[in-house]
Amino acid sequence: MERKVTIRSTDLTVTKVGLGTNAVGGQKYYPNITDEDGRRVLHAALEYGVDFWDTAFTYGPKRSEEIIGEVLEKTKKRNDVVIATKAAHQYIGKERVFNNHPKFLRQAVEEALKRLRTDYIDLFYIHYPDETTPKYEAIGELKKLKDEGKIRAIGVSNFSLAQLKEANRDGYVNVYQGEYNLLDRSLEKDIIPYTLKHNISFVPYFPFASGILAGKYDRHTTFPEGDLRLKKPQFQGESFFETLEKVEKLKRIAKEKGVDVAPLVLAVYLHHDAIDVVIPGAKRPEQVKQNLSAADIMLSKEEIAAIYQTFA
Ligand code: NAP
Repeated sequence: MERKVTIRSTDLTVTKVGLGTNAVGGQKYYPNITDEDGRRVLHAALEYGVDFWDTAFTYGPKRSEEIIGEVLEKTKKRNDVVIATKAAHQYIGKERVFNNHPKFLRQAVEEALKRLRTDYIDLFYIHYPDETTPKYEAIGELKKLKDEGKIRAIGVSNFSLAQLKEANRDGYVNVYQGEYNLLDRSLEKDIIPYTLKHNISFVPYFPFASGILAGKYDRHTTFPEGDLRLKKPQFQGESFFETLEKVEKLKRIAKEKGVDVAPLVLAVYLHHDAIDVVIPGAKRPEQVKQNLSAADIMLSKEEIAAIYQTFA
């Protein structure tokens, strides 16, 4: 399979297998991860040519963008990487709110540019919807930023169908990012059909459901205090064990095909009509390398159906 793709309705040409960076500087989610671990992952991505990096203000917060900016400046590789970032989180004291006000978004873009040490962001998403801003006004401001050359494409994430429709009133939304994986395909009901119809690229987040689909956990796996996964239902008790059994079946399919299970999962998504790119998270260089091989895995309709059936 071709390793590169142009994300539909944009001029962004990237590796189909990108990199999710919420573990880069992401001590907020993963207490055992250091900044140096994050730098190593980014250097690995540069070495293997993984050139679509997904970050956000709230990863760290700020730290993921800062480390990306630092690494790209030091290596002089800014123009070799397509950066997607997001904003909406606003911290007021200890309280966190979402803000989509045009003024807030403009300021968020300006601040992200500084942290990323660049003068353009390739893809800027509204990370979460707020309850008050008309979505076409929020997107209208992003269109202005696009016309000014500060961002190259416009995305939204975690919007409901109604919010997406309102955001895309003038046809300016290029990318939708939403939770989607073999365990949770609920966005196929409404969001994905809309994105297909309107030529919006659908980017699935949590492609490994935070790691469980990548095939290395077992009944004895534990996570450190403060780890994001301790809060997730699919990592608790019976639900965790049931998913592990399904992943065992997936491992058998991977073995028969002679591939590793993590890239096999990503390959399933890459065969979906709505999906151009995937953004698996990685904590170690070898994960970046292994995930990249997903773009080389060809699957028949029957094989894809069998994999979906495993998780039905
Ligand atoms: P994920 O991609 O489902 O899982 C990533 C984890 O899987 C890694 O941290 C690693 O964890 C494990 N892994 C990755 N490759 C592996 C391999 N080859 N073999 C074995 N294990 C492997 O979860 P995620 O990183 O949270 O999500 C992906 C990206 O989506 C994020 O980085 C972020 O950019 C984006 N995201 C966006 C939103 C949003 O609201 N828009 C929300 C969440 C995430 P271990 O090493 O600990 O097992």
